[in-house]
Amino acid sequence: MLGALFERAVDGLLVCNAEGTVLSCNALAAQLLQVESSAVIGHHVSEFLEQGKSEGRFSLRDGPATTRTDKGASPLPVHLSLTPFESSKGAQVVVRVRDAAERADTQERLRQLANFDSLTGLPNRALFRDRLGQAMARAQRSGQAMALMFLDLDRFKVINDDLGHEVGDRLLRHVSQALTNCLRAADSVGRDGEMPHTLSRLGGDEFTVIVENVGGAEDAAQVARRMLEALNEPFHVHEEEIVISASIGISMYPTDDVDLDTLIRHTDMAMYRSKSLGRGTYSFFSDDLTAAVTARVSLEGSLRRAIERQEFVLHFQPKADLRTGQVTGVEALVRWHRPGHGMIPPDRFVSVLEDTGLILPVGAWVIRAACEQLAAWDRVGLPPIRLAVNLSARQFRHLYLASLVEDSLRQNEIDPQRLEIELTESLLMEDNETTRSMLDSFRRLGVRLAIDDFGTGHSSLSYIKRFSIDTLKIDRSFVQSLPDNDEDAAICAAVIALGRSMRMCVVAEGVETPDQAQMLRDLGCDEMQGYWLGRPMPGSEFAAWYMNHKRSRSRRRSRSRYTDTSPMTLFSLLDGT
Ligand code: C2E
Ligand code: MG
Ligand code: MG
Repeated sequence: MLGALFERAVDGLLVCNAEGTVLSCNALAAQLLQVESSAVIGHHVSEFLEQGKSEGRFSLRDGPATTRTDKGASPLPVHLSLTPFESSKGAQVVVRVRDAAERADTQERLRQLANFDSLTGLPNRALFRDRLGQAMARAQRSGQAMALMFLDLDRFKVINDDLGHEVGDRLLRHVSQALTNCLRAADSVGRDGEMPHTLSRLGGDEFTVIVENVGGAEDAAQVARRMLEALNEPFHVHEEEIVISASIGISMYPTDDVDLDTLIRHTDMAMYRSKSLGRGTYSFFSDDLTAAVTARVSLEGSLRRAIERQEFVLHFQPKADLRTGQVTGVEALVRWHRPGHGMIPPDRFVSVLEDTGLILPVGAWVIRAACEQLAAWDRVGLPPIRLAVNLSARQFRHLYLASLVEDSLRQNEIDPQRLEIELTESLLMEDNETTRSMLDSFRRLGVRLAIDDFGTGHSSLSYIKRFSIDTLKIDRSFVQSLPDNDEDAAICAAVIALGRSMRMCVVAEGVETPDQAQMLRDLGCDEMQGYWLGRPMPGSEFAAWYMNHKRSRSRRRSRSRYTDTSPMTLFSLLDGT
């Protein structure tokens, strides 16, 4: 048994007596010594191994040595370690012989493993801390500022979950390469010469950059901007194109004169500030950030509880035909009925839901609840109005979104043509396989597609055509200053003309005054939505509002003249009734 172990050991092993005579030799040792094992046994070890000057009978010690050959083969550098032991035959020594080159290799591998990230080859957390400590000390000594940056990819988790870890890994390598190239080029940004940098990966999608010799915050900001730009280049996976962005936090040292761990924590907080600013941006650390970060973390927790406790509610805002005044549909808008805080508008929490993936359960609930409400109105005899639901980009990566919509429609016996899905321009701009196949599924289902907040993103005709969009919703910001603002009037006119030429329905959002409605109608806009027609209201109030609206519409139509400016008055006036 021991013999077998001895033979198969991963090192060359020689057992010698106290005089240095070899008693046994395993195969690997013979191979290293470049002789047959039978030729070694019984001979003195110094015939095969040389180690500087020999002293005493047993000449070897721990450390480097070379093999000694008499056949003209070149000597091999080896490394020895000796273990003396007592046997029944007296004192003996085990000499472990290892190829010195291989040993150096192993040590190098161990050093790599301990200090570098195996996926990207960048310094890892341990080496990063080490380098940061050194950079901070240099900054202290020289008085030259140093910037620490944390970079975190936006929505990396989504990509990783939806496209798989292999794609995630490739993306991380791509990012590491892009950042390396960009930082090399950014070296020349500094006003006072070179700015040495260290890029590290802490794990997951977290990267850090230490930039030394920065002239000031503006230099650091410029490096951050360059990194964000470098990441904007699309990344290709199979047939798909993924556009990524990142959020960066920056702190300056010794301006923020703190210890290493605090500097790291501050930079992390600044990074989260960038996330909450809508991502794809950078922020510097400042003292008031500490409070903001605490608030954000507690908001996340409250939202998780809100789902369990079903604290979300839907309000519905009517839309009407600008020519006839007839109500054409409603848009479902989510609110959070937060105990002790009242009704919280979606602008305050939807982005947090998106970041955390909580938008999936909440979004699914919105679709189901809105469809149930529509079916309830059908049952009480309201005419078959349309229902619009907002979907965020994050929900589009949800594999079962289309079947979720299909099920909700079927269970509530709703004609798919009555459901309109409101999408943002940025989602369509992504134009990747996921988006395309999801839009195709919706098309097959027969639901309508609308572009929300049109004009605020990268308005592009190509995607409208490609995805056969049914409705354009002109963003509130262009409607707000009508009719006096010529520029906005021109934009509205252009969007309306565009919509008409492509046979789309154009809806103006945020109509608050009769003058605005009149102008939009003159420009040929189809529908309006806004406080002037009606504010978002609970589903339970909508049926009454609808009947009231209908009554006043017909009452006013039958009168000849009036002076008030409620929506129906305007419609009848414009109709000439
Ligand atoms: P949106 O889809 O553009 O919705 C229109 C927003 O404009 C609503 O704000 C509405 O209350 C407001 N609004 C309507 N008429 C007027 C007006 O005449 N004047 C002014 N000043 N505002 C008006 P709300 O409900 O706060 O929603 C804000 C945004 O939150 C929505 O913008 C939508 O993008 C998002 N959102 C709402 N519900 C959902 C949802 O269920 N899922 C997702 N993913 N996003 C939602
Ligand atoms: Mg909307
Ligand atoms: Mg909108």
